[in-house]
Amino acid sequence: MSDLLKGNTGEWEMVIGLEIHAQVISNAKLFSGAATAFGAEPNSQVSLVDAAMPGMLPVLNEESVRQAVRTGLALNSKINHHSVFARKNYFYPDLPQGYQISQYELPVVGEGKIEIDLPNGDIKVVEIERLHLEQDAGKSMHDQHPTKTYIDLNRSGVTLMEIVSKPDMRSAEEAVVYVTKVRSILRYIESCDGNMQEGSLRCDANVSVRRPGDELGTRCEIKNLNSLRFLRQAIDHEAMRQIEVIEDGGLIPQETRLYDPDKGETRSMRSKEEAYDYRYFPDPDLLPLDLSEDFVAAMKASLPELPDVRKSRLVSEFGLSAYDASVLVAERETVDYFETVANGRDAKLAANWVISDLFGRLNKTGTPVSQSPVKAEALGELIDLISDQTISGRIAKDVFADMFETGKGAAAIVEDKGLRQVTDTGTIRAQVQAVIDANPDKVVDYRAGNQKLVGWFMGQVMQASQGKANPAMVNQLLKEIISG
Ligand code: ADP
Ligand code: MG
Repeated sequence: MSDLLKGNTGEWEMVIGLEIHAQVISNAKLFSGAATAFGAEPNSQVSLVDAAMPGMLPVLNEESVRQAVRTGLALNSKINHHSVFARKNYFYPDLPQGYQISQYELPVVGEGKIEIDLPNGDIKVVEIERLHLEQDAGKSMHDQHPTKTYIDLNRSGVTLMEIVSKPDMRSAEEAVVYVTKVRSILRYIESCDGNMQEGSLRCDANVSVRRPGDELGTRCEIKNLNSLRFLRQAIDHEAMRQIEVIEDGGLIPQETRLYDPDKGETRSMRSKEEAYDYRYFPDPDLLPLDLSEDFVAAMKASLPELPDVRKSRLVSEFGLSAYDASVLVAERETVDYFETVANGRDAKLAANWVISDLFGRLNKTGTPVSQSPVKAEALGELIDLISDQTISGRIAKDVFADMFETGKGAAAIVEDKGLRQVTDTGTIRAQVQAVIDANPDKVVDYRAGNQKLVGWFMGQVMQASQGKANPAMVNQLLKEIISG
């Protein structure tokens, strides 16, 4: 499938590079001890450093460094043992320092790459340019007073990791898959909660268009996209806008744009500032960040099994399809759940139950796996009841529905409702005989060659047994008795 776009004058290719701002999970801010919890009273989590009181000095939070290094390693990227914090100077009402402490020439993490799974089954490599640490800004609140803007500094100074990709993506779909993958990795290693609604993960999308095979075109940067849906819409819209401008004989100026989800369009915010506009210089209040080999090795050792490795293991160890495995590994708690269910059991059966039955119900009610009313151990017990023939697969569906609603265990439901599978030959034979005796005309039909009637007889016997007769035994006895 080609991702080329059709214009009036021929085909175009879109080129996308993403900057992801990920809020680091840490109890304190990057350079102060103030708390970082989301949703606190405005200005209740602000130290004198965050408010930029004169004479206050920043002190680097080690946890933020640990998280950045762990993230760099998880993104297969080079860790820079020597990096430098720099001041990025600009004026904004919610930036009390008058500059943001960031990293510029020497970021803590350099180049790397990750693999993304495209919907058509292909694997694509997306290269990472860098990852650096920086402070978040505060927040202007325009909706609190008719004529005034209020400032909430709770977010001021919170640690962000900015993860910059190379311009490797060629469609909005690829951009969405890339962000989803990065988010999944961050959540695995617990360096960012990935919550886009609360703003702990947001993206800037750089978009340009070109004729296939040409040099890169001029890019526009769309700021602050806080959902995957908006990311997709903004990219698609922006690429078409640029194509129209160029086909009309215009030029794309490099600029920063905003996406308006209500109108479904991007609009210009400001012309793009160049790095020299920011007057970057090393922050004289902070020493360079020098990391020892031991520190980096310890961070490496602290990483859990990552999604790609886990996916291959599900394929090789449990014999799952690559597709099922990729669905299961997207979230760590999901794959943990699956492995608990699958352990010592038929893994493919377990995968079916988790993906179709459990996800089906959880999605309907919007419940996360962690809050599933059916815990992994309980689902495992249900599968055991199928494997040891206590209940049929068909009855198990009803038992599962009951477990999901009541939170009761499988065995208790089977006993209370008398759902145990009947495997006693005598009982089943009698039920089969009764159905045959009651339908002599159909027996004649069958014997005359209408083989399909076996299905109908099966249905009658299963109904008579309230679904509890062992289907394989019914089938066998039916054929035996009906043939006379
Ligand atoms: P800045 O700090 O000005 O935003 P960076 O170099 O840090 O610039 O990153 C800009 C982003 O733009 C990167 O993700 C990069 O991949 C992307 N990018 C660069 N050139 C293009 C282009 N021609 N089209 C699309 N994206 C681009
Ligand atoms: Mg940028």
